[in-house]
Amino acid sequence: MLLEPRLVKLSTRTGAEVRRTLPNARKRMIGAWAFADHIGPTAQDDGMVIAAHPHTGLQTATWLFEGRFEHRDSIGTVQFIEPGQLNLMTAGRGIAHSELALSDSRILHSVQLWIALPDSVRKMAPEFEHQGDLAKLQIDGISATVFAGELEGYPSARAATKIFSPMVGAELRLRSGAAGSLALTEAFEHGFLVVQGSVEIDGAHIATTTMDYREPGATSAHLVNTGDDEAIVIMLGGEPFNEPNVMWWNFIERSHDEIVEAREKWNARDAGIAEFEDQIGGWTPAPELPNVTLKARI
Ligand code: MN
Repeated sequence: MLLEPRLVKLSTRTGAEVRRTLPNARKRMIGAWAFADHIGPTAQDDGMVIAAHPHTGLQTATWLFEGRFEHRDSIGTVQFIEPGQLNLMTAGRGIAHSELALSDSRILHSVQLWIALPDSVRKMAPEFEHQGDLAKLQIDGISATVFAGELEGYPSARAATKIFSPMVGAELRLRSGAAGSLALTEAFEHGFLVVQGSVEIDGAHIATTTMDYREPGATSAHLVNTGDDEAIVIMLGGEPFNEPNVMWWNFIERSHDEIVEAREKWNARDAGIAEFEDQIGGWTPAPELPNVTLKARI
C-alpha cells in the first residue's frame, strides 16, 4: 500500500512546506512511529526557523541528509546536528524546544519523526540524547545506518537510542545500480519512505517522497536503485501500537480532556516547562481547538 505525502505548511517564520506521510488517511501510525515529515531539499535559509514550542507524550527524532540544525530545549540542551546523526528528544510529561537551520550550509534536507510513548512511560521526565556515532552496516548493495532499534539479523548493530517499544528506524543508501535484500521482523509493520532517487521495492517503483507500507507478516524486502543518482530510503518499523491515543498539534495524549489540559497549561505558561534562550526568540502559542471532541484512535 502506498502512503502519498500531503503538503503541510509549517508554522515557522519562513512558512516552510513539508511533505507529511504520517499520519496518513490510509495508515495512521507504523508501530510507534506517529509522524513523518520530509523537508527539502531546499535552501537552508528557507528551511526551518521554529520558535519554542512544546511536546508531550512522544519522542521527536531529527535526521538530516544535508544541512545543519541547532536544537535548544527547556532542559538546557544546546545541540548541533549534522547528516548521519540523530537528535532524539523524549518529551514525556512536557518539554519545549526550538529548531534553527543554520545559514552556513546551502541545502537543507531532513526528516522529522515522532515516536508515541507507551502509557507506562508517557509521563516520564523529559530527556534529550544525541547519537553521533551510529553503527553502519553493508547488506548486499545497501549501506544502512540504524538510528533506532535494530535490523533483523543484525542485533550487534543495535542503536543505543533509548526507545520504549519494539521498533526499528534506519537510513538506507544505494548507489546507482545497487540492490539488496533486507530481512524484516515478522511481527513489525514497516514503511519505506523514498527521500531521494529512483527506487524499486520488490519490483514496484516507489515514487520519491512516497512511503511504501508493509503489514506485519512480511519477512523480506528487495530494494534496487534504478536511477543514476544515489538513492536514499528511510525505513520505519515496529509492533503495531495498540494504545488508542489522540494526536493534536504537538501533543500525544490519551483523551480529548488531556489535550485540553496540555493546551491550556502551555498557553498559560504554566505547564511546568522552563523557558529558555535561543537565537530565534519568541514562543509559540497553541492554536484554537476544533469545535469537536477529539476521539482516541489506534
Ligand atoms: Mn518540535
